[in-house]
Amino acid sequence: MNKILIIEDEININNLIKESLELSGYTCISAFSGTEGVLRLESDEYDLIILDLMLPGLHGSEVLERGKELTSAPFIILSAVDTLDSKIDLLTLGADDYITKPFDINELRARVMVQLRKKNQVSKTFVHKKMVMNGALRTVTVEDKELNLTAHEYKILELMLKNKSKIFTKQEIYQYAWDDYYIGEDKTINVHISNIRQKIKKITEEEYIDTIWGVGFRITKS
Ligand code: CA
Repeated sequence: MNKILIIEDEININNLIKESLELSGYTCISAFSGTEGVLRLESDEYDLIILDLMLPGLHGSEVLERGKELTSAPFIILSAVDTLDSKIDLLTLGADDYITKPFDINELRARVMVQLRKKNQVSKTFVHKKMVMNGALRTVTVEDKELNLTAHEYKILELMLKNKSKIFTKQEIYQYAWDDYYIGEDKTINVHISNIRQKIKKITEEEYIDTIWGVGFRITKS
């Protein structure tokens, strides 16, 4: 369950965000000033923080600066300020995303999902037989030897290691690894799977990826 801290002094906006995100299954905690926001960050762990800039007590940029010392969770900034300079400043301070008021609640929700997906991807480690995927380092080793994977090869393995018993179609693999719509490029996935297998084969004869003819690919069962 993802827990989100909403730091926004305008009660209506705070409530709107809270209700909308709770409908999507997130747990939300509200803070109504910069000082309260920092106190919350000091006393609990959150997966994501939505932070307004114009806050009583402590300005949003100060909350961001303090917050980055307290948590590695992503910050999405809300603000009426829409100048390029302030965007750059915020990104320098460590904001992960930025949305200007008035905003569409669906857009905010989509951005929340993107940030949480990124966060969850980097922290995962998967182990299968003698293969270890370290999400924080973005490395994959087999028998303690590192596979030199391309970014796409890494994503393909990540998808399959996350769901070891599932058979993935080429379309599913393409959409995950390329983050794009599948346009029926039949050979792309085959070539990438074959490259991954060759890299594994340099280390071990053991199979790690099965071809399920006519369906797709799956991690080889232990
Ligand atoms: Ca405000």
